[in-house]
Amino acid sequence: MESPVTDISPTQAPLLNLMGHDRRALEMYFTALGEKPFRATQLLKWVHQQGVYDFSAMTNLSKSLRSSLSSQAVFVVPEIINDQISEDGTRKWLLRLEDGNSIETVFIPESDRGTLCLSSQVGCALNCSFCATARQGFNRNLTAAEIIGQLRLANQLLVRTGGQRPVTNVVMMGMGEPLLNYKNVIQAMILMQEDFAYGLSKRRVTLSTSGLVPEMRRLSEDCPVSLAVSLHAPDDELRNKLVPINRKYPVAELMQACREYTKGLPHQKVTFEYVMLADVNDTDLHARKLTKLLSNVPCKVNLIPFNPFANSGYKSSSLSRINHFRDILMQKGVMTVTRKTRGEEINAACGQLAGKFRDKTRRSERLHEVQPVGSIQ
Ligand code: SAH
Repeated sequence: MESPVTDISPTQAPLLNLMGHDRRALEMYFTALGEKPFRATQLLKWVHQQGVYDFSAMTNLSKSLRSSLSSQAVFVVPEIINDQISEDGTRKWLLRLEDGNSIETVFIPESDRGTLCLSSQVGCALNCSFCATARQGFNRNLTAAEIIGQLRLANQLLVRTGGQRPVTNVVMMGMGEPLLNYKNVIQAMILMQEDFAYGLSKRRVTLSTSGLVPEMRRLSEDCPVSLAVSLHAPDDELRNKLVPINRKYPVAELMQACREYTKGLPHQKVTFEYVMLADVNDTDLHARKLTKLLSNVPCKVNLIPFNPFANSGYKSSSLSRINHFRDILMQKGVMTVTRKTRGEEINAACGQLAGKFRDKTRRSERLHEVQPVGSIQ
């Protein structure tokens, strides 16, 4: 007996989102279409520099190419669902992704630069004890298109509608652990540095990691951008509690990886981030241990006042404690600055980013949003 024939009705193949394609990927794409590779740079300029997503408006492409591109590809960026500006000019966007999840992106204007803080994952799987994003759990990695889309959107809003200058610096310090989304983050960072896209130098792109040693080594080969490491404690005993990934990659191993990273890059220093938690990691003894630990790593230290959120169980160190801690480090020759807290009242500060998504780690069974301290909702 013949098996029944399934009725296959003609379906539309899904359109390919070219937003996250870097130059090499686009060159391959055009070559496969029988086109010259230089089409890739033409396309990059239209999309990433001009903000033109409509193929029919790309006048330096032939009409037939324009129409065949329209039938098979698109440029999709996340949708802006909230746009908040704080008193100090810090701007936070809540962005909805195609699957309904949402993430946050923050722009921090300063007199000499405009820094964009990008998310790399929906949530975070790492569970650092003082971080609001960690409380929400993890849903998925962002695609390269969703990562670079945050930069594209920011430039569009700042330059095209706000009359401001474009983003000059990018920090991968938003939601997520960028090195756990290695491939997509690298692809997006390559696009940021691409002359025909955003043209940012590798000094102006900073990746912050909680210390994934093998990926740090790969990064120095694949895309040696500026490196920031979330240290937060001078020894394993305390760091195991604050940054649990430390149990896998302990402090000594992490320091070794940092030394190696700077070796490949002349004049490059690792930035160590150190969140100041009252009576937890902020005593004189912690400061002295830290100076010893960092004595043979080319580095600078960023002290970050703890940004509170409900039920965090932590309090920020006082300003005088932070200053004293800084002085101890400086006296021992460790370059140290206190990071100014920006955009606090719109919950745009370090570790306050939340977004809305469903936790897939079962850390929480509900769709929820972390409530910042003092929020009225
Ligand atoms: N996962 C990456 C990048 C995201 S967090 C990393 O760990 O580096 C960016 C920085 O904000 C990190 O140094 C992080 O430790 C810090 N941070 C997290 N929660 C914070 C909070 N509540 N207050 C101040 N800084 C915080």
